[in-house]
Amino acid sequence: NSAQAPTHRTTVLAVANQKGGVAKTTSVASIGAALAELGQSVLLVDLDPQACLTFSLGIDPEDLELSVHHVLTKGVAVGEVIIATEDGVDLLPATIELARAEADLLTRTGREHVLRGVLDDLADAGTHYDWVLLDCPPSLGVLTVAALTAATGVLVPLQCETLSHRGVGQLLDTVHDVRRFTNRDLEVWGVLPTLYDGRTNHARAVLDTISQTYDLEVVEPPIPKTIKFAEAPAAGRSILATSRSSKGAQAYREVATGLIDRAGR
Ligand code: ADP
Ligand code: MG
Repeated sequence: NSAQAPTHRTTVLAVANQKGGVAKTTSVASIGAALAELGQSVLLVDLDPQACLTFSLGIDPEDLELSVHHVLTKGVAVGEVIIATEDGVDLLPATIELARAEADLLTRTGREHVLRGVLDDLADAGTHYDWVLLDCPPSLGVLTVAALTAATGVLVPLQCETLSHRGVGQLLDTVHDVRRFTNRDLEVWGVLPTLYDGRTNHARAVLDTISQTYDLEVVEPPIPKTIKFAEAPAAGRSILATSRSSKGAQAYREVATGLIDRAGR
């Protein structure tokens, strides 16, 4: 039927690592802001009951009447919950109630597909984003599996200072299961080195070891460790706004440009 509207292709990127403190949330906020600067339309989804992404974008979860858990488990329309932020991205916010949603989902049929369904609903309602970035919680539980099931690709932020990377193997096992059972097309887009201290050879060596051991692509450039990141969340804006020309902001812009290339946008 030639009258059909052209289908809009959204790239859904899950930012996942079950380890906390590796800059998942910082990366989602910063890459999101960088993509928006480059003219892309972006939705960020906070899937962590700690709601750090929501907070870091200047929204106090306590002020919210509706949040992602209403969409995932209460049948509230996603369009009613999305809010625009000062960073030029839209946000599907979280509150601590998401912890209960995670428990509720455990007994639900089709729980792995719940987020994919929500994103399909959004498209059916005529809202099309170029990018949806999913900020995963620090676990491999039902919310992370739902994110991987909804995703085009997964990006794994990794702090290159520590030597304990057994977690990467576990995450890749989960990706493997998701590919087998719920999302055949899921791609691993690679590891993003974060909190990177380029002054030491150690960081580079750790990174090389990981990428070889697990046969993972390394997304460049590494994100330098800088105090600027500590200041951004309190300001309610990403580092791209609070520290426009810092090395960290610049690194995230380069990463975003690479992602656009990779997505073919
Ligand atoms: P996660 O979501 O993986 O738990 P966060 O994004 O919340 O990690 O980051 C953990 C902490 O590290 C936060 O306090 C954040 O401000 C800080 N941080 C993130 N990236 C950097 C960086 N490049 N340099 C310095 N501090 C950073
Ligand atoms: Mg986080």
